[in-house]
Amino acid sequence: MNEVPNILWLEEVRKEDIISVGGKGASLGEMASIGLPVPKAFMVTAQAFRRFLIETGLEKKIFASYERLDVENNVALEKAANGAKAMVLKAKIPSALKNDIRKAYKKMDTEDLIVAVRSSATAEDLPDASFAGQQETYLNIKGETALLEAVQKCWASLYGARAIYYRARQGFDDHTVNISVVVQQLVHSEKAGVMFTSHPITGEPLTIIEGSWGLGEAVVSGSVSPDKYIFDQRSEKVVDVLVSNKLVEIIADGDNGTKLVDVVGARQNAQVLSEQEISKLATYGKIAENHYGIPQDVEWGVVNGTIYILQSRPITTIGNKKEAKQMSGQQQSATIILRGQGASPGVASGKVVIIRDVKDTGSVKEGDILVTKMTSPDMVPAMQKVAAIITDEGGLTCHAAIVSRELGTPAIVGTKTATNVLKMGQLITVDGEKGLVYEGAIAPAAPAAAPSAQQGVAGPAKIITATSVKVNVSIPEAATRAAATGADGVGLLRIEHLILGLNKTPGWFITNNREEDFVKELHDGIKIVLDAFPGKPVWVRTLDAPTDEFRNMMGGENEPLEHNPMLGWRGIRRDIQSPDQFRLQVESFKRLWKEGYDNLGIMFPMVSHPDEFIAAKAMMKSYGVDVENVTLGIMIEIPSSAIMIEEFLKCGIRFASFGTNDLVQYTLAIDRNNENVADMYNPQHPAVLYLIHSAIQMCREYNVECSICGQAGSDPKMATWLVEHGIASISANIDAIAKIREAVARTEKRIILEAARTRDAE
Ligand code: PEP
Ligand code: MG
Repeated sequence: MNEVPNILWLEEVRKEDIISVGGKGASLGEMASIGLPVPKAFMVTAQAFRRFLIETGLEKKIFASYERLDVENNVALEKAANGAKAMVLKAKIPSALKNDIRKAYKKMDTEDLIVAVRSSATAEDLPDASFAGQQETYLNIKGETALLEAVQKCWASLYGARAIYYRARQGFDDHTVNISVVVQQLVHSEKAGVMFTSHPITGEPLTIIEGSWGLGEAVVSGSVSPDKYIFDQRSEKVVDVLVSNKLVEIIADGDNGTKLVDVVGARQNAQVLSEQEISKLATYGKIAENHYGIPQDVEWGVVNGTIYILQSRPITTIGNKKEAKQMSGQQQSATIILRGQGASPGVASGKVVIIRDVKDTGSVKEGDILVTKMTSPDMVPAMQKVAAIITDEGGLTCHAAIVSRELGTPAIVGTKTATNVLKMGQLITVDGEKGLVYEGAIAPAAPAAAPSAQQGVAGPAKIITATSVKVNVSIPEAATRAAATGADGVGLLRIEHLILGLNKTPGWFITNNREEDFVKELHDGIKIVLDAFPGKPVWVRTLDAPTDEFRNMMGGENEPLEHNPMLGWRGIRRDIQSPDQFRLQVESFKRLWKEGYDNLGIMFPMVSHPDEFIAAKAMMKSYGVDVENVTLGIMIEIPSSAIMIEEFLKCGIRFASFGTNDLVQYTLAIDRNNENVADMYNPQHPAVLYLIHSAIQMCREYNVECSICGQAGSDPKMATWLVEHGIASISANIDAIAKIREAVARTEKRIILEAARTRDAE
């Protein structure tokens, strides 16, 4: 160990040197060695840090200071971390080491040398530096004193609370853990950002670049919505450009540190990278990926037309990259035979089975592709078997879309003609992300749940957000996948699917004296979900199926024929008029509460007036529920309930959740399942946003949790807007949790940053 000097230069470093210069340092050295444009740098080695600890007498002292710490005790952990960090910050750097750092700094040889100082974790099994809390970076550092201070701060970051906690949980020996510091010439980026050299989920050769004005920290910290570009490595073309409204940038602040400033005028909406720059950057990305043999997550900056690569690390979220690549290569040359709306991501091949009547679902075999006008709850058992689903009708919030996403089965809805164009037994491939159907089998026939099951659990370590990010569940089979997302609870459990899969209407159970079967079915299904989310809130919604969805089932002949079932006898209005049906549901809830599931909350759907809430509550009381001590809330999915939200709050609702699938259709008069008007179905319509905004503010005044469980909550843009407008929680689909959590975290960070900035300016 003693042979490793205090300082190593970029040119001397290779990937094997991770133990001396950490992951960040080693990767920079490696990239420089293959000719990628990396800024000048030197590294203060891990051994230098160790010498610092030994010579200052801290090596034993620090560790002893928190040896008996219970890391689960937050207060104690914070105290211990602060103590250890203070020791590192106060200690005097031994003069030999100080001189080495000073000399290296001088040798970097520009006049007013300004550097970025970045900590670099050395433990090979600590690849996720953000999780370990070791991502301290100090930009715009000028002068020896500031540099030495920044180096010491990077060292101290090794003893941050999260870092100590993580090491304790992972069983790392804190006696020996080291840290290196990268001192890098600061690239005064005029524009900068991040790049995934391949698609971060599927591993497809699509390079995704995000860029904005100023230093890259604006993109990394989420304080700006960056431009997004997609470069297809197969065709070597830019295939998608999304120019965002860039309101702020981070720039150097005089001689020390950085500041956030407004972007003004035309630059706000100007495209940051030219096509040429995108291609060049993507090519650098490809070189790095080929060199490492694994897709990379790269930070880059551009100054005076020169691109610099500032950092690169492997992407850890990709599942089976080889398989994805092979499929994509083939898809490129395949013939597209049908298009629709991509409703549930994933790619699958199989034989077409066209179902015109639910009675025929018996002929559906494992691995088939189910093609039908529109799915219904009684088709769920068949939907569980198939490799993919295609429908003629429907939009992103239709039954087929909701259930497919939950099953992790690729699905395309609203094709208009699938049942005519496709033939029984025809071999096809479905791309549920892009909404494309290809001739022939060009994807390996994988089990239906494979692609999205992977999506549900893959991704970086969980980000903690102040806004709760919950998950929607409709079928108990999805409970495990839903829980694997790490969601903060279930914001909507649709129970109609629990019983409709049995192919009998609630009325059938009642008229045939099978009430106990009904109660048990509900109880058992809900229990599976509650068990998957111990200690986390689970909001179970009372029955809400329109009469047409009941029609094909046993007992369906007694359902009324309605012209507009969406506007008809459904939700709480039906339950209030059908006490038996409501009583049986309540009976199953009562059993669960009695069994100790006090995380169970009940949500009433399609509520249009506070009187309905009062009536439902009174009925529950008459069935023996201690209504003041259970959690009862409403969905806001009819404009009247958004408008009258204060009256509901006065009646004591414990929470409210926007059902935007319905709220949009009732506000705009757009049938949510009608593909002819799907273009006009817009959750971001000003009128819808107005209703949501005003209801959120009122809930905040009454300190009542306001949430969303409609499909719009699975759209990161909408999630960003909702967080900006003060929503307390967001409940999204399983496949969207990771991206929603990220959007929420970004937005929260930006809000904090902007508040701090305003404070500073005052
Ligand atoms: C909604 O309307 O947004 C909702 C979540 O309920 P459903 O989709 O079941 O009508
Ligand atoms: Mg609804």
